[in-house]
Amino acid sequence: MNNNPIIEKLKELQETDIKINALNKLCDDKSATLNQIKENIQKLQKKMEEIKQRAKQLKIEIDKKDLELKSNEEKTKKLNIHLNTVKTNKEYSVLSNEIKSIKADSDIIEDVILNYFGQSETIQKEIKDLETAITGENNKFNLLSVEVDKEICHIKKEIENFCQIRQENMGRIDSETLSKYEKIISNKVDKTALAKVNITDYSFTCQGCHMDVTPQQVNEIMKGKELVCCKTCLRILYVDK
Ligand SMILES: [Zn+2]
Repeated sequence: MNNNPIIEKLKELQETDIKINALNKLCDDKSATLNQIKENIQKLQKKMEEIKQRAKQLKIEIDKKDLELKSNEEKTKKLNIHLNTVKTNKEYSVLSNEIKSIKADSDIIEDVILNYFGQSETIQKEIKDLETAITGENNKFNLLSVEVDKEICHIKKEIENFCQIRQENMGRIDSETLSKYEKIISNKVDKTALAKVNITDYSFTCQGCHMDVTPQQVNEIMKGKELVCCKTCLRILYVDK
């Protein structure tokens, strides 16, 4: 079977491009792993800020309740002094009830403070756990980034080498064909501009898009005079020898 002789040169170029594409993707994947850890650290730090804010708020509440408690103590002290100087039973009873009521109020405040202390303990534990998690993620990041940076540096050198090869590949192809090739790959996710025609007893299909190729197109390819493109995916078609 005859292909246009330029096809072999385009195939070489495509091989190189596929390798460059795969290496670029590898680079992105490696960076993505690091970025994922960085994101985790940021999330944990945000959580830490929120928890610290809660701890701060709780401290304010506890101080407020402490003041209320102290104020009640003062009031009770004064009322007790007053109690010793009352003249009538009625007055005594009124003051006693007032002292009882303050005591009941203080009991409730003490319960609230106790509850706050419980919450505060839980928060302190959460802060400690988060600190451990953040340190862990930071260590992981530092260790991995040294490794990944080395790998990426190595991959970039490989890419440079293949870019050199690409230049050589390109040097063997005329500019019109090259621009056609570049135009096709710029629109393809898999960065392929060439597609083999799959030939069975009953059909011809483009392996790039799996759509039919006409017998007439196959004839044109066999003649090897002009480049034939798939009507659906626009890739340059070839038949395997
Ligand atoms: Zn196609």
